[in-house]
Amino acid sequence: MPSSDHRSGDQQISPGTGFGDFIQPFQIEDLGLMGRLVRLDSSLESAFKRQNYPDEVAQLLAEAMALTASLSGIIKFDGIFTLQAQGDGPVNLLMSDITSDGDMRGYARFHEDGVAKAIARPGSMVPKLLGKGHLALTVDQGPETERYQGIVELVGASVADCAQAYFSQSEQLETAIIVVSEINEGAQPRSAALMVQRMPGETEDTISRDMEDEAWHRAVVLMSSIKADELLGDELSASQLLYRLYHEDGVRLYPLREVRHTCRCSRQKVSSTLASFPQAEIEEMAEDGVVTVTCEFCKTDYRFGKKDVAELFKQNLGV
Ligand SMILES: [Zn+2]
Repeated sequence: MPSSDHRSGDQQISPGTGFGDFIQPFQIEDLGLMGRLVRLDSSLESAFKRQNYPDEVAQLLAEAMALTASLSGIIKFDGIFTLQAQGDGPVNLLMSDITSDGDMRGYARFHEDGVAKAIARPGSMVPKLLGKGHLALTVDQGPETERYQGIVELVGASVADCAQAYFSQSEQLETAIIVVSEINEGAQPRSAALMVQRMPGETEDTISRDMEDEAWHRAVVLMSSIKADELLGDELSASQLLYRLYHEDGVRLYPLREVRHTCRCSRQKVSSTLASFPQAEIEEMAEDGVVTVTCEFCKTDYRFGKKDVAELFKQNLGV
């Protein structure tokens, strides 16, 4: 890799990392932009295991997860960032969340027949599979803090289009996002997201504003020159890819943040959820005396026998 540009020398460009599961934050100094490159592979494989998603549903979720990881970098938070899309289509719920530590999970709820019929029709993923509905972004930092939520209607062809619409409707910073995925039978699923965001301008005069607008335009044009197979391939590492796009503009890479697929469900969490319902209702759920609760994210079964259920409600009453 050439390093003639002093700002992009080996001090700031880390060695190639290839593919993997990570968020690579960066800054383009000369253009006044912040950005993030996200790549996911084994985290998707782990999230898709035991789910039997049709390819198109897997693709939707792979892109939603890459988008979640890239959006989670926008705000500083200590907790959980959630992306949730709900619609009236055959995929009626798409959910993906990530903690500030990089623990990520996601799942799609779908009707198999409906998906098969929808796939057979021409058209783009979001209108065909999700239908009409909304996309919500939530930041939860615990019970003592204020919950942030932004909502936008499901618009456009892809999940990235919906996020793009969210940024143009709300008074957020100007943002450009590309999200791509590759789902092939027998191969590891992959998705990637590239996002650039304009930093708030410090100058008020027209000449500087014009220059900033021009810089933004340049960044978006360069960004759109990247091909899906470059974002999804092994040939270019994150640093090589960003260097190729923005080396003339002084790209600076921040420490890479690893992400991994981890479900946060536990028997204790399921217990407290069950205990929040009327005891009779829970007892009615029993089959052969056993209440089974399955985590939708990881398909883990939590089983509660008669004694366990009785115990739950004893605890609930503080006895
Ligand atoms: Zn789980």
